Amino acid sequence: MLKHIFTSLLFILFLTSCSKPEPQLFNDSFFTFGTNITISIYTDDEKLAQTGFKTIRDEFRTLNNQLHPWNPSELHSLNAAISKSQPHQLSPLLHLMITEGQRFHKLSSGLFDPAVGSLVKLWKFDQAANIHTSIPKDSDIKQILSKRPSISEITIDQNMAVSSNDLVRLDFGGFAKGYATDKAIEMLQNLGINNAIVNAGGDLSAIGSKNNFPWKIGIRNPFYNGAIAAISTNERTNIFTSGNYERYFEKDGTRFHHIIDPNTGYPSVEIASATVIHDSGILADAAATALMVAGLNNWKQTAKSMDITKIMLISSDKRIYITPQMDKLVTILDTGLTKVVEDIHQ
Ligand code: AMP
Ligand code: MG
Repeated sequence: MLKHIFTSLLFILFLTSCSKPEPQLFNDSFFTFGTNITISIYTDDEKLAQTGFKTIRDEFRTLNNQLHPWNPSELHSLNAAISKSQPHQLSPLLHLMITEGQRFHKLSSGLFDPAVGSLVKLWKFDQAANIHTSIPKDSDIKQILSKRPSISEITIDQNMAVSSNDLVRLDFGGFAKGYATDKAIEMLQNLGINNAIVNAGGDLSAIGSKNNFPWKIGIRNPFYNGAIAAISTNERTNIFTSGNYERYFEKDGTRFHHIIDPNTGYPSVEIASATVIHDSGILADAAATALMVAGLNNWKQTAKSMDITKIMLISSDKRIYITPQMDKLVTILDTGLTKVVEDIHQ
């Protein structure tokens, strides 16, 4: 009798272990914000993973429709109203992006300025196609600079936005992905998903781990296709990299790329890529863009005022400037570069 009960128990145990699927990695990829989005979810519940994928796809499609800088979108209508000095009613999303943009503008002493749209357009970096191939006339750059469009010139009163400068053209390309991946992680967590990565073309937000092993993340080498460094993480992390290799053209050996110094009207120089890790994706994204503009002389000051400590900069002359806090997290893979560990308070 006892033997019979024992055998039945074993059988039940066997059945329950069979019916519970093993956790595994589910992936989904799609194209939006002009880049490939890849979502990885580690779970034993495939249906839940599929719900996560659909939730993020829908959200990103909505964001893209609201924030697209050159296709018809709410942002596009706002820019059209600004060019005619007219007020424009804001959705909660645009309201938030403007106030966050103003905050980062202030914290970076104007180096991060989402009002650079007129300059981005002049350089033809506002197009999906690779039509940016020539340096604009210096007089055209100077003309825009003489009015120095800045996001600080937008005032919001009861959800109506108005700009005192009709050359302000908002372009949220410098921090929209950070907003989007923060939002995606929040949505996954609300669904009960706690092990995932949302990767928007190399910029990503991660939570948890994969089978208790940390997620392994590669940082792109700005000089050739491949990774320059690897980062392991098993907690909420946002890793954002800005680089001079995303949209660019070369003329007489100089690279002109899509991150514009609002003070000169020309693409930033000295830094080939800037990587930032921070608890907030939107801040990490804005800060990576700001550090590209800050250059080797101002990066520490900018980091201090934006309250970021985990930074890796790769200069065009092939040095890696890394903070001690970042150095602890990163394994450098390309040993041909000189590493300089520098504290932002040094
Ligand atoms: P990211 O790859 O995050 O550095 O963003 C680059 C994008 O930010 C560009 O394609 C522009 O749309 C926008 N951008 C360019 N220069 C600036 C700037 N100085 N401040 C804020 N956004 C900028
Ligand atoms: Mg950015």
